[in-house]
Amino acid sequence: MSEQDEIEYQLDTLAIRTGHDRTFEGEHSEPIFLTSSFVCESAADAAAKFSGQIEGNTYSRYTNPTVHTFEKRLAVLDGAERAVATSSGMAAVHAITLAYLKAGDHVVCSRAVFGSIISLFEKYVMKFGVDVTFVDLEDLAAWQQAIRPNTRLLFIETPSNPLAQVGDLQAIADIAHAANALFAVDNTFCTPVLQQPIKFGADLIIYSSTKYIDGQGRALGGAVVGNHQLLEEINGVIRTLGNSMSPFNAWVFLKGLETLNLRMKAHCASAQKLAEWLDAHPKVETVYYAGLPQHPGHELAKKQQSGFGGVVSFVVKGEREGAWTVIDNTRFLSITSNLGDVKSTITHPATTSHGRMSAEAKQQAGISEGLIRVSVGLEDIDDIIRDLSRGLDLI
Ligand SMILES: *Cc1c(COP(=O)(O)O)cnc(C)c1O
Repeated sequence: MSEQDEIEYQLDTLAIRTGHDRTFEGEHSEPIFLTSSFVCESAADAAAKFSGQIEGNTYSRYTNPTVHTFEKRLAVLDGAERAVATSSGMAAVHAITLAYLKAGDHVVCSRAVFGSIISLFEKYVMKFGVDVTFVDLEDLAAWQQAIRPNTRLLFIETPSNPLAQVGDLQAIADIAHAANALFAVDNTFCTPVLQQPIKFGADLIIYSSTKYIDGQGRALGGAVVGNHQLLEEINGVIRTLGNSMSPFNAWVFLKGLETLNLRMKAHCASAQKLAEWLDAHPKVETVYYAGLPQHPGHELAKKQQSGFGGVVSFVVKGEREGAWTVIDNTRFLSITSNLGDVKSTITHPATTSHGRMSAEAKQQAGISEGLIRVSVGLEDIDDIIRDLSRGLDLI
């Protein structure tokens, strides 16, 4: 598909058609290039490719056609120049820290990001002389105050997990750029189908493709998306470190992108229905879903997102016992921390994903004992509601 076509076509067409250069075999569907290296035509050809004089595949840690197809397709969906695929979402975040930070630099990060990202900064990045300040996602004054002359990177996830707080992309981008810092957004929950952070000033987008982009809970992967210049740095890190995406996984994600828009619409519709049902349930104290008009981030989410996503969190009566009763009385919801899957999943954040936090930190982060997180899958929504009502009726 030519670049001119890419400008004219809509998202669904791009998600299905972009990035595949058909080989001489005339294959209709994208092939998987399961090969670790590539053969050159001559010694001179090899020398030219290795020196970068001519483009061409040499080794799959550097480039692989299936991975490349996935990268091109994802970048186009995000309205970006380039994407680099990684072996996991965490590898994508790690690549950002290695590519743009050095000893003496400072990072401002939202407190409400994926737990392993907090660990990456606190346990490892800080060890190399980079200072990190964590601030409340929604508190713009705190973002501004946290800026120092050596601030190089601002990092957020919006909407956040599990409480669906919404960060103001444009406002935080402006704070970052006034300080000459980069602004990176973890867009795993929305995917490019529901939110394109570049439109609101983000410089870098990171994904865990393990979630909605796969959509069927099969493979680990991730990506960094942005402009050519910034992504060249990421490419250098990934090809050197070796946490590149496997061609097989790239093919799984490529197929995932083809149905992403359809799936996200269905996830959003079911999550909205579930959130409204929970909101009216006498055993439910609070529902965290930006699709509910009373949610504090509702208006901002409407501005930035074309849908409210597939994750619904809620607090039930009866603290931990109440939450565990709901979880243990489901019959088909999977008790697992993965999300973005066609299969609905249910977790108790206070004793799983956030289990290692102190009681005080949990309270500060709003992770109460009665909190349950559901990633709403694509099973019939009335069946999902029935599965949750079994335990709720017993509280
Ligand atoms: C899962 C997840 C990650 C980490 O991705 P992995 O593929 O597990 O390494 C990062 N951010 C968010 C929002 C996630 O849900």
